[in-house]
Amino acid sequence: MISCDKCGNPNIIIKKKQSGQKLCKDCFIKSTQKKVLKDIRKYDLLKKGDYVLLGLSGGKDSVMLLDILNSLKKRNIIDLMAVTIDEGICGYREEGIEIAARNAKKLGVEHRVVTFKEYFGMTLDDIISKNNVKEGRRNACTYCGVFRRWIFNRVAREEGATKIATGHNLDDETQSIVMNYLEGNIQNLTRIGVKSETRNSRFTIKIKPLREIPEKEIALYVVARELDVHFAGCPYAGESFRAEVGNFIKQLSNEHPTIMYSTLRGFDKMKPVLKREFSQESIVGVCENCGEPTAARLCKACTFFKDWGAE
Ligand code: SF4
Ligand code: ZN
Repeated sequence: MISCDKCGNPNIIIKKKQSGQKLCKDCFIKSTQKKVLKDIRKYDLLKKGDYVLLGLSGGKDSVMLLDILNSLKKRNIIDLMAVTIDEGICGYREEGIEIAARNAKKLGVEHRVVTFKEYFGMTLDDIISKNNVKEGRRNACTYCGVFRRWIFNRVAREEGATKIATGHNLDDETQSIVMNYLEGNIQNLTRIGVKSETRNSRFTIKIKPLREIPEKEIALYVVARELDVHFAGCPYAGESFRAEVGNFIKQLSNEHPTIMYSTLRGFDKMKPVLKREFSQESIVGVCENCGEPTAARLCKACTFFKDWGAE
């Protein structure tokens, strides 16, 4: 009879394709938490006394990360606050914000909602629908990503946070590697990793504690833990190149279940060489318009606004 490899319970909820390991609900939850905490130690992501700003969208990844980081908060190892960015995506983001707020409240974690509107004067829907984006809707994620990174970095400084934690998982990270490789974005590749490295004090260090957890296991974790999660997908997501690459990798993974791990491991081995050869980190200064760190005269966010002729 099939039973849990750890405790012998016959009610297994997962048989891992990569390793063949079979686990019951309780052992799956424990082993997933253990793996994330082990990675936090292994990659030196957090240290005692860190004040962590968690990007909490209300989706499964960030809610799982909140659940695990809260265990470190309860043990007085770190302090934690959650920030939800309201990009202004009508009919989608509202529910995520409510769910994020409920999760933070339940655990007693301080929660702040910040909006594109308050920082940039317009919502993502405005940016896409007004004449600003002439090349069509396809690039919503490009703008969204740049503006979100800008806000997280600004809010982290406002709040005095020492780390920014995001719920990027193994699927996200593999997509980023393949996507940037296919597009020839070597500069972007040098910045992919479990922890951002920078000597510029205006950049808050970003960490991705779920980087080695596959998306499927995150979905199973939130169901097993009965966490309150926003499952709806962003209406712009299907239009992105990332989504195309994601589908391609998913297809490959059906026949080759270890392909995401091997992509990640191979990339991590190449990364020091890429950084040595291509990183422009040493010339980082500040944007002359907004004061955020950038390698150019203007940061990416301000460059977009300048191109659109906006303030
Ligand atoms: Fe932003 Fe794209 Fe994510 Fe939607 S899918 S929230 S547009 S990055
Ligand atoms: Zn700027």
